[in-house]
Amino acid sequence: MPNAADLDAAIRDVPDFPKPGILFKDITPILGDAQLFKSSLELLAATAGNTKIDKVVGIDARGFIFAAGVAQILNAGFVPVRKKGKLPWTTHQMAYSLEYGEDIVEIHADAIKPGEKILLVDDLLATGGTAAASIKLLKALEADIIGVSFLIELSSLNGRQALDHPATHSILNY
Ligand code: AMP
Repeated sequence: MPNAADLDAAIRDVPDFPKPGILFKDITPILGDAQLFKSSLELLAATAGNTKIDKVVGIDARGFIFAAGVAQILNAGFVPVRKKGKLPWTTHQMAYSLEYGEDIVEIHADAIKPGEKILLVDDLLATGGTAAASIKLLKALEADIIGVSFLIELSSLNGRQALDHPATHSILNY
């Protein structure tokens, strides 16, 4: 079974995408390889430790890919946090700052019952703005956030500090 070093070797660094100065971490080579994809899901699922997770929450859009697979491994449900305007039912909303302006993430108001044990999953932790807003949404629903897990962390951007959650995990650190 491939390990974290194999995942690291598969990630493709794309300079200046989607704009100048950004080194984009392209995870599609992992997704396209059955063994690498499976091991990325298993490594993320292991961050839950021994706690029984009720729901894995994934962040729009690449987070969905990993969170859905992790939910299956953990025998948990899957809940999407989406960008504004995509969810059809009653939602809770949270605004967060971007480099220029702001964006909004949403969750269905009935997606999580108070006290349910949650693992939040996304592909990559950069500044932490998106994940921090997602954590606020989960807290508004009175979720019990067991962990916040990323395949990739860009540690120089201090996203971990923005999240301020004691159980923040990443599989690959850059
Ligand atoms: P942030 O809110 O700054 O932590 O940004 C996190 C989101 O932006 C993640 O869901 C990533 O999908 C995406 N993202 C940010 N920076 C990068 C990068 N260098 N490479 C790939 N995706 C990125």
